[in-house]
Amino acid sequence: MIPPTISYFSVNSQLKQRGLIIIISSPSGAGKSTLSRLLWEDENMNLVLSVSVTTRKRRASEVEGVHYHFISMKEFERLRDSDELIEWAEVHGNYYATLRTVVEKILEQGQDMLFDIDYQGTIQLQKKMPQDIVSIFILPPSMKELKDRLHRRAEDSKEVIRTRLENSRVEMQHWENYDYILINKDMDESLNAIASIIIAERFKRHRRPGVKKFINDLMNEKS
Ligand code: 5GP
Repeated sequence: MIPPTISYFSVNSQLKQRGLIIIISSPSGAGKSTLSRLLWEDENMNLVLSVSVTTRKRRASEVEGVHYHFISMKEFERLRDSDELIEWAEVHGNYYATLRTVVEKILEQGQDMLFDIDYQGTIQLQKKMPQDIVSIFILPPSMKELKDRLHRRAEDSKEVIRTRLENSRVEMQHWENYDYILINKDMDESLNAIASIIIAERFKRHRRPGVKKFINDLMNEKS
């Protein structure tokens, strides 16, 4: 698991204001959902997982409100047309989107959020809030491994798996839209790499407006 090496939540966290949007994208089956969930479960990382809305049918293992909010096409269209979606995309023949109000509220609280979204949503968010985004693209070690993982999951029909494999090539062509590229060969190694990226991004100067005051206070401190 992620080593608790850096105690970010001591004095350091007080110097930043707005939360970060951490996007993890990958072709279906590259391990992104598992990685996102493990990062979210790690209390040291202190991340909020963005729960998307989707018109896709719920898989047997999925829970409403935990993995997704499962909505009808009519409800999706209503949300989209009333500008309640901060980003949306059609992926593998279904619609997926992120609700605007939830994201704004959480970021304003200074809380970092984890997004498991595709390249289309990533591009939309990068245009809207470039300063807030850290984007990570996960690749499978081989196409064979990707195929095996999709079959192992055994929750989708052969037809769905075929579509996802075909779409993985389109998805991978967008790797240049991302800040970080990771080949997911070993889950623990990938988890550590992503945790390191997030921690480093939190320390970036432009994300830490509180530093100015902190330095002023240091200067004025009586020795
Ligand atoms: P799945 O059906 O396997 O849960 O997800 C299919 C794809 O949709 C994945 O690549 C996932 O990252 C993407 N996705 C999930 N939620 C969203 C979202 O809110 N917006 C966008 N643009 N893509 C999403």
